[in-house]
Amino acid sequence: MTMSGQDGQGMQGTQALEETPLSFDRRYREMLGAGLDLLDQGVTVFDAELRMVAWNGAFLRLLDFPESLARQGMSFEEFIRFNAERGDYGPGDPDAQVAERVARARSFQPHVTERVRPNGQVLSIRGFPLPHQGFITVYTDITEQRRAQEQIASHQAELEAHIRSRTEALRRSEQRLREITDAIPAAVAYFDRSWTYRYANKGYAEWFGWSAHEIEGQQIREVTGQEVFAIVSPFVSRALAGEQVSYEYTLTGRDGAPARARSTLVPDVGPDGEVHGCYVHSVDVTEQRHTQAALAQAQKMEAIGQLTGGLAHDFNNMLTVVIGNLVALKENHPDDPLTENFVEPAMHAANRGAELIRRLLGFARRQPLEPKPLEVNELILGMSKLIRRSLPSTIAVSTASREPCLVAMVDAHQLENALLNLALNARDAMPNGGELRIESSIEHLGVHAAADLEVPPGDYVQIAVSDNGMGMDGSTLARVFEPFFTTKQFGMGSGLGMSMVYGFTKQSGGGVRIRSRQARGTTVALLLPSVAAAEQPEVLPALHADIELAGKLVLLAEDDADVRTVVRMQLAELGCVVVEAENGAEAADLVENIPAIALVISDVVMPGSMDGRALARFVQRFRPDLPVVLMSGFAESHSSMDADLHLPLLAKPFSRDKLLAALRPFAA
Ligand code: ADP
Ligand code: MG
Repeated sequence: MTMSGQDGQGMQGTQALEETPLSFDRRYREMLGAGLDLLDQGVTVFDAELRMVAWNGAFLRLLDFPESLARQGMSFEEFIRFNAERGDYGPGDPDAQVAERVARARSFQPHVTERVRPNGQVLSIRGFPLPHQGFITVYTDITEQRRAQEQIASHQAELEAHIRSRTEALRRSEQRLREITDAIPAAVAYFDRSWTYRYANKGYAEWFGWSAHEIEGQQIREVTGQEVFAIVSPFVSRALAGEQVSYEYTLTGRDGAPARARSTLVPDVGPDGEVHGCYVHSVDVTEQRHTQAALAQAQKMEAIGQLTGGLAHDFNNMLTVVIGNLVALKENHPDDPLTENFVEPAMHAANRGAELIRRLLGFARRQPLEPKPLEVNELILGMSKLIRRSLPSTIAVSTASREPCLVAMVDAHQLENALLNLALNARDAMPNGGELRIESSIEHLGVHAAADLEVPPGDYVQIAVSDNGMGMDGSTLARVFEPFFTTKQFGMGSGLGMSMVYGFTKQSGGGVRIRSRQARGTTVALLLPSVAAAEQPEVLPALHADIELAGKLVLLAEDDADVRTVVRMQLAELGCVVVEAENGAEAADLVENIPAIALVISDVVMPGSMDGRALARFVQRFRPDLPVVLMSGFAESHSSMDADLHLPLLAKPFSRDKLLAALRPFAA
C-alpha cells in the first residue's frame, strides 16, 4: 500500500492541505508518508469537523478498508458507517451505532478501546485530541499479544487447577492421616523448639480437655496446666537437647479420678543435627497400672496366705500337743488345787489360740468348706437377729434384699462367720452409734469387674454390709485384708476378721469389694457365685438350722471314746464348737468353769458318781439357763423326752438330722 493520501499528500498536521498545497515541501511529505507506511500501526488524523486529514497504509490494511475510502477530507462518519454496515460493531441498528460513535468522537476526549473484529482480529484503538481540536488515532493489531496472554492465562489456570487438585489431595491425605492418628488409642502430638504445639491428635487434646485445633499454636504449659507442666518440663528440656525420654505422671482425669499416663518424647533431629522439635507419644496406663496393682495385691495376699497357712498348720500341731498335755495333767491331778490355778488359764489361752488358728486357716483358704446352694436372704435374716442382740442399741441394724430369693454356692457357717466379723468391724467403726445395713442383690460382673476380682464373669450374689462410721484412709484400705493388720488398740483386735472374710470368699470362688470414705462410712460387699434358679435344689431345712447352731460352744459328755468322736463330728457338721468330757464330774467341772458353754449334750449312763441325769440336775441348779439334751443307748422309753427331768432324749444311734431336730429348740 502506499502512503497517506490519494494525491500523495501524507501526514502534515491539522491544516487542510488543499488550502495550502504549496506551503510544504512535497519531498518532505512523501518521506513522511513512506515512513508512516512502514509502521505496523495504523494512524489517522481527523480535523475538528471530523474530516480525514492524514492516514497511513497500515490503517487501511488493519481495518480492511477499501482504497476508495482513503481520501482527503473523507468524513469520519463514512468510515464508521462502512464498519457498521459490514457488521464490525456486531449486531444492532447501524444508524444508532454510527450516531453513538460520531457523538463520542466529537467530544475529543483521549480514549483507549479495544475491539474484536468479526474475523477474530483484536485491535487496540487509542485516540488523542490534537491542539486545534480534531484527533489522531493509532490502531494496533494486538491479536497475537492477546492470544499469547490468553495462552499464558490458560496455562496459569491449568497450573492453578493442578495446584488446587494437588492441594485438595494433600488436604485429603492430611485428613486421612489425622483420622488415623485420631483413631489410634494413643495421644500423639508434636511441639517445636519454642515449646509450642504444632500438632495434636484428638486423643492428646481430649486428655487435657482441649480440642485438637485449639492446641496447635499453644504453649505446653497452657495445655497441660501448671501441675503436669512441673512434672514434664525437665523431660521436655532433655528431649529438646536431643535425648529420647520416657516418663509417667498422674493427672486428674476428666471424670475427676486420677489418671496415669506414660509418655515418650522423641526429638525431631534435622539433617544438620539440630533439634527442631519433639514428637510426643502418650498412652493411658491407668487401667494397666490398676490391673498391675490388683495383681500385686492378689500375689501379696497369696504369699501371706501361704505363709500363714504353713504357720497355722504347724501352730495347730503344737497347740494339739499343748492342749493334750494340759488335759492329761488335769486328769492326773484332778484334786490338786494347783490344777485349777495353773492349768485352767493355760487351757483357756490354748483354746483361744486354737480359735485364732482356725481363722488363720480360713484366711489361708485351708479350712474345709462345705459349699452348698444356700438361700442367703434367710441366712441374713437369721444373722441380723443375732447381730442386733450383740450390738449396742445405739446401732440400728437393717436388712434389705432386691431379690426375693438369692441362692449362692457357699458354706453357710463360714458365711455367717464372715457377716459376724463385718458386723463387729462396723460396730467398732461406730463407737457413737449409727446404722448398719445388710443388703443383698444379684450383681452381674462384666469382663473388667470380674478380672479385678480374679473371678470368671457372670452373676454373683452380693451381700453388702454398710456402716456410716469412721471409714478408712488409703493406707488402711490397702492393708485391710492382711492378717494381723489392725488399727485397734492392743487386745481389741486380732487383725484376722477381714483376712478371714477375704480368704473365705476367695476360697468360695468369689471376691470382696470395699468402698470406704473417711468420716462417711464403709461398705464391704461379698460377691459369691450365684446358683441359677434352675439348678437350685430344695433348700434343706437343716441348712438354716445349722446357722442358728453355728459357733455355739457345746459340751459333749460321753464315756465311750468312739461314740464321742462320732457325735463330736456330727456337732461340728452343724457348726458347733465342741468341748468334751469323759464323765459327769468332768462335765460338771467344765460347766462351772466355761461360761461360754451354750448347750450340754450328755450320755445318760456314765461311770463314776455322776451320770447323765445327775449332771442334768447339777446344770439345772448351777446354770438354769443352760439347755441339756440327753442321749441314751438304751431304749428305756419310746418317748423323746426324759420322763423325770423333762429333757429331750436322743436315742442312740442317731443321724445328724435327728441330732439337729433335738437341738433345734435351743438354737436361736
Ligand atoms: P480387727 O477388727 O481385729 O482390727 P479386721 O481384719 O477385722 O481386724 O480389720 C482390720 C482393720 O480394718 C481394722 O482394724 C480397721 O482399721 C479396718 N476396718 C475394717 N472394717 C472397718 C469398717 N467397717 N470401718 C472402718 N474400718 C474398718
Ligand atoms: Mg475385725
